[in-house]
Amino acid sequence: MKIVSRDDIKSAKRYGQVALDLLDTWNVPMSPINYGVAYEIAKGKNKSLLAAYKAHTSKNKLIDCFCLEQWQSQYLQSPAPQNDKLISDLEKVVAGVHEQLESNDGSVDKYLEQLTDGIEQIKQANIGDELLPVVDSLLSASRLIKWQQKELKEQLAQSKNETSQLKDKLEQIEQQIKKDPLTGLLNRRGLDEYLQKVQDTTPLLTVAIDIDRFKSINDQYGHLIGDIVIAKVAEQIRQSSNTNIKAIRYGGEEFLLVMPQSEFNRYPLVAEDIRKKVSEMKLVSKKSQQKLPAITVSAGVARQQKDESFEDLVARADTALYAAKNAGRNQVQYAK
Ligand code: GH3
Ligand code: MG
Ligand code: MG
Repeated sequence: MKIVSRDDIKSAKRYGQVALDLLDTWNVPMSPINYGVAYEIAKGKNKSLLAAYKAHTSKNKLIDCFCLEQWQSQYLQSPAPQNDKLISDLEKVVAGVHEQLESNDGSVDKYLEQLTDGIEQIKQANIGDELLPVVDSLLSASRLIKWQQKELKEQLAQSKNETSQLKDKLEQIEQQIKKDPLTGLLNRRGLDEYLQKVQDTTPLLTVAIDIDRFKSINDQYGHLIGDIVIAKVAEQIRQSSNTNIKAIRYGGEEFLLVMPQSEFNRYPLVAEDIRKKVSEMKLVSKKSQQKLPAITVSAGVARQQKDESFEDLVARADTALYAAKNAGRNQVQYAK
């Protein structure tokens, strides 16, 4: 057992205080996730988390609950590949159990049945007293094996059930880890996995989408309504996605579509369609029956150039997005 020293306690107190100060600076509530991430930053040992934090602050980007949740899932939770291994191990176990059940075609059962019947017949025949105890012990041994065989089969069938259920559950969790809980769109981890599959082989295209004047929705109607608006916009974006067009919640009220350029050639109006559908949404607050003002989004589209990194591609889509904002919002701009 690890002994906790006085110094450990002192450091923990110090990190805790720094974490609270950070939450104060960021103006976010002290939820377990927010505090956990702040504490890790205060501790200063998680290099990837620190790099993300530094990159964020050097660009003066806002640190909000969404961003902290992303960091928590990206840098503080166990990495997804372990789950992949667990799932493939489980698959092997399920296959093994299945094979054992299938391979038992009943021949062992039949043999044990015949053996027990045979010994019973010998017992009923006229055998001498000196042989009776031997036959009796043979009979109980074969009955015991018959019973054990039945138990084993039942246990195997049950294990097969349990392992398949566990595998389904793990696969579900694996899917959940890649999704943003509010919108059901992919999160950055889901995006990373997609990029690993397609990058270097497929020239990509990204659409950066950002809700216009979203701060005023929060200010006027509160964060809960703000969250519902985010989910409604995400729903429109999701409807334009398919197996080739991936929709990602990339920031609080920022989204990204990522697709192969060939897909965009087939569907060049994807960004414009989303912009139009969002602007036509009619939102009414269920509680107060109050009509919400029209919501609009701006979007920036960029095609990946030869040897361009994904980060640079997104940066160019962002620049196009900000050009759309500056040109009056509720429009799509295309990177040069
Ligand atoms: P612009 O048209 O220039 O994009 O204006 P904006 O008001 O949308 O600009 P800005 O990006 O500065 O504001 C976004 C706001 O979104 C700030 C932040 O508090 C809020 N926000 C970020 N994430 C969430 C979230 O998950 N839920 C809610 N309700 N609000 C969020
Ligand atoms: Mg924004
Ligand atoms: Mg915005």
